[in-house]
Amino acid sequence: MSYLAKNYNRKKISFKYGKGSYLFSTSGKKYLDFVMGISVNSLGHAHPKLVRTIKNQSKKLWHVSNAFQIPEGEKLAKKLCQKTFADYVMFQNSGAEATEAAIKVARKYFYSIGKPNKNRILCIKNSFHGRTLAAIFASGSKKMTEGFGPKISGFDHFVFGDHKSLKKKINKNTAAIMVETILGEGGIKEIPDWCLKELRKLCNKKKILLILDEVQCGVSRSGDFFAFEKSKVKPDIVPIAKGIGGGFPIGAVLMNKKVAQGMTPGSHGSTFGGNPLAMSVGNTVMDIVSSKKFLRNVKKLSKYFLHKLNDIKNKYPNVIKEIRGRGFLLGIQIHGDQAKFIKKLMDNRLLTIRAAENVVRILPPLNVKKKELDKALKIINKVCSELN
Ligand SMILES: *Cc1c(COP(=O)(O)O)cnc(C)c1O
Repeated sequence: MSYLAKNYNRKKISFKYGKGSYLFSTSGKKYLDFVMGISVNSLGHAHPKLVRTIKNQSKKLWHVSNAFQIPEGEKLAKKLCQKTFADYVMFQNSGAEATEAAIKVARKYFYSIGKPNKNRILCIKNSFHGRTLAAIFASGSKKMTEGFGPKISGFDHFVFGDHKSLKKKINKNTAAIMVETILGEGGIKEIPDWCLKELRKLCNKKKILLILDEVQCGVSRSGDFFAFEKSKVKPDIVPIAKGIGGGFPIGAVLMNKKVAQGMTPGSHGSTFGGNPLAMSVGNTVMDIVSSKKFLRNVKKLSKYFLHKLNDIKNKYPNVIKEIRGRGFLLGIQIHGDQAKFIKKLMDNRLLTIRAAENVVRILPPLNVKKKELDKALKIINKVCSELN
């Protein structure tokens, strides 16, 4: 009997430890882990530098209140700003908190310039911004909001790719458009660069803000530090989380100077957000994953992997419909039973995870080795041949 609430549909497997790209189950089996806590363990399991960081910092200082200066947080914020569009950073503990804080920043900005009625956020229907009350109503998914009413108002929706309805939904009360640069849970759907550019133009024209949720696709997962970088677009606000902690819970909102003016002392806070232990880990992750050499390697290996996945798709067009995504945020859209495909991969010791639209998500650690990718390709190929 389990005393855990039943809000997850858990597989009957648990793990004793992890090392690099591998997980070792309590029953003694070794799995290639291409879930990585859903895009969280960016450097794999038990990375020596992260272990060292936690060990050293845990002997010094874990937590102090944000009533005091936190040098480790100053350091990480500086690195994030120097690498990106951002001028300021606000630390949280999770993705949902970061997206909610992003919404707060947008609303408070318009309030601070005397336009408090500009407070509505326009989002993609059935996107994913987390599981808090505001975030589920921002996502606008029936499945996630059912039973959790009353509805949190302030969100409007448009259908992915429907530019006409997007333009129509902007009104005088719209404060911001908030979208994931690459929809993760939604099925690894990329917003093309030209669309991001048009979005930016539209936001400028309507004098509203652009929020790009990079909680899943950000922090080098896409092959660039941010997935939007390739488009040269500069958003106003970007929530991040998952990858930046490498497994330690960290969330953050990055923002430009203009919108930051609303965030006056006392306007927002988080007890745990940005504590010294979390920030030390964040600094170590950031130093590794944001280096040019590291990113070059992510790009090179992920391109190779994507190419090989497409080869498998071409070999088994009856099994695989499409290969989606870029960097190490990839999806195999299959024709058949998604759960069965994932189970078969797992029986062959490769862990993957579902996404919407019958997509099997593949999320290797960013420091995955080529021979591990080849091993995964072999397993995927084998499962496809069995299902063909
Ligand atoms: C996972 C995710 C979130 C929510 O993050 P949590 O840490 O689970 O709260 C928000 N936005 C996107 C795009 C995500 O993938």
